[in-house]
Amino acid sequence: MAVTTYAGWIADGKPARQAQPIADMVTMFEGHGFVVYWMGNQAHLTATPPEDHCPFSNTPWPGAQPYPYVLALDLMPKGGAGGASLAPIARKIIADKRSGNAPWVKYLNWTDESGHVWHTKWQPTEATTASTDAGHIHLSIRTDYATSNAAHGWDPLAPPTPIEDAMANQFLAEAGGQYYLCSGDKSVKISPARANTLAYLHAEGSGSAIDLGHSPGYVNNLEWESTQDGRAGMVRKGWTPNFGPAVEDNGGVTTATITDAQVTQLATELAPQIKAGASVADIKAIINGTKLVTA
Ligand SMILES: [Zn+2]
Repeated sequence: MAVTTYAGWIADGKPARQAQPIADMVTMFEGHGFVVYWMGNQAHLTATPPEDHCPFSNTPWPGAQPYPYVLALDLMPKGGAGGASLAPIARKIIADKRSGNAPWVKYLNWTDESGHVWHTKWQPTEATTASTDAGHIHLSIRTDYATSNAAHGWDPLAPPTPIEDAMANQFLAEAGGQYYLCSGDKSVKISPARANTLAYLHAEGSGSAIDLGHSPGYVNNLEWESTQDGRAGMVRKGWTPNFGPAVEDNGGVTTATITDAQVTQLATELAPQIKAGASVADIKAIINGTKLVTA
């Protein structure tokens, strides 16, 4: 008879096993240096109702609880970082669930980049509501995947597969509402306005080498999806800033410059420290490093 209570579980000798996807994901996340919990602590085990960290969960879905398998894990942030540091991973899990690459997922509780905590579930269709389960990613899986090998080899932190289209030597991506222009070795943060411009140039066939993965009539598929605000065409699915260095867009300015007016302003503000008779040219030369400060 299936055990459904803490007392019954104690009487049964406290058996507990990781469901296979939980075991595979624990191994994968630990391989990336994360701390991962799966077995419920005393509070979990004695909660009403007992949920997915318990071998005798009362909230299995879509089938009966596959006792004594545990169907949940908690992915903890690294080095004291907050739950928001895991937002890119949560978004990748959600993207993979949507695209069919993580069919075992039942729901997750996660924290976005702004610190808001969400409960995103697929029971049976996707819905997201506010949650109070902060500080980590909680991931619960479906009962019908308890012994499945489907999660073996799945890795939301792996770089995206190379773009098959030889023309796509750069692509547009989006994470947390921020657009990135990505090439093989770096990702540059760009504004929505610049993303719009790039999309426009691409749509107009300007000859740009940038392939934004879309053309008129392009639809969401396994590789590409519409940007959140729909303004910049399509972005590469599943990409996050974890996949290589992200650098700030400096708007094309490559050399810092200081104007004569700024030097005059500085000279006014620093008058007590500036030697009498120093010229704007002298001060500018000192600031630019072409003249040594002399006593
Ligand atoms: Zn949890």
